[in-house]
Amino acid sequence: MATVSKTLTRSMPSLAPREDLNPYRISQMQFDIAAEYLKLDAGLRQVLRTPKRIMEVAIPIKLDNGQVKVFTGFRVQHNVARGPAKGGMRYHPSVTLDEVKALAAWMAWKTATVNIPFGGGKGGVICDPKRMSKGELERMTRRFTSEILPIIGPDRDIPAPDVYTDSQTMAWIMDTYSMTVGHTALGVVTGKPISLGGSLGRNEATARGCLNVVEEACKIKRINLRGATVVVQGFGNAGSIAARLFLEKKAKIIALSDSRGGVHNPRGLDPLKAQRFKERTGSVVGMPGGARISNEDLLTLKCDILIPAALENAVTLENAEQIQAKIVAEAANGPTTPRADEVLARKNIFLLPDILANAGGVTVSYFEWVQNMYGYKWSEEEVNQKLEATMKRAFADVYETSRKYHVHMRTAAYILAVGRVADATMVRGLFP
Ligand code: GLU
Repeated sequence: MATVSKTLTRSMPSLAPREDLNPYRISQMQFDIAAEYLKLDAGLRQVLRTPKRIMEVAIPIKLDNGQVKVFTGFRVQHNVARGPAKGGMRYHPSVTLDEVKALAAWMAWKTATVNIPFGGGKGGVICDPKRMSKGELERMTRRFTSEILPIIGPDRDIPAPDVYTDSQTMAWIMDTYSMTVGHTALGVVTGKPISLGGSLGRNEATARGCLNVVEEACKIKRINLRGATVVVQGFGNAGSIAARLFLEKKAKIIALSDSRGGVHNPRGLDPLKAQRFKERTGSVVGMPGGARISNEDLLTLKCDILIPAALENAVTLENAEQIQAKIVAEAANGPTTPRADEVLARKNIFLLPDILANAGGVTVSYFEWVQNMYGYKWSEEEVNQKLEATMKRAFADVYETSRKYHVHMRTAAYILAVGRVADATMVRGLFP
């Protein structure tokens, strides 16, 4: 019966008003809500909602077949009032300037939510890394770095991994930058290999930070993480490691997915097996021990904790009403639209917004940068302890704000973050 009605609804033109899925406009809507609560004056609003600097570059490289191809890359610095710009580099075919602008703004609010002394930036290259060789990726990364070199640096803007970039990408950026400036500059990127000034714990940090705040949310929702059912959408750095860490806490991973589709087993799946299967076949789809499920159906499974860990716009007006999770923890950036937020709030679903739930990555990036700048070497336990303290403090701050203003957790995080950046901006004053 349920299947029939679902099919019918899908084949009928949607009666719901269409919503704006442009990530940049979404990020501005989220900002505007907070600005209204904070009663920011019009001038300050303009300053904070506009990216400080946008750079678009052409990246010509020689492909393995001898042909030349020109890629397009972006680096956006949204705000640097509280410190250097900070944020990842994304390699994906669907990268757009508006997406990078949104991601840069989200980084500015994220660093402010966890209160680390950085601003927000982001970079992206329109490319399909799955169809490029390692040599092509290296040449593209080095040329991209060289093009944006004037605006990056340990005290200007510090890139890090994001979708389809990793520690190797960071090593190439660091080397290109260092060779150009004439000295080894470890602090120019974070998420580096451990052998090259990377921090212990950085690779797992996004997922670990997500776990830290889910633990806090579970206390409020009176959910025992042991035995809690968890659904993970996306199996990259954040999603695959989150699945593993939640399993270590004895939660049950009942479904997981990647860009090609998902697997589902109400009795639980083994994320390590999924990882090995994906390494061999390129996807978790078809792994033994679970039934196939589409990404669409996976999101609406009944579960305690839903972790969107893929791309933007996973939870929209189209499916928000059907979400059955008690907690939604956004390991991805921008997975829920503002209209879907309203639906989740009405359904009393506890939302851990991206700028809090996935801030563990940039938090340990900050620890990496501090270690690089001072020549420290911290143990993994030390890093994890500092991360947990930061995440729990941020959760408490956001939760308290949500109680004070009677708003849901996303708006609370924005009120906190925008308020912090606004204070820094006002006390600095306008130059000249
Ligand atoms: N790309 C990650 C994010 O979206 C990490 C950024 C960083 O470490 O600077 O938060």
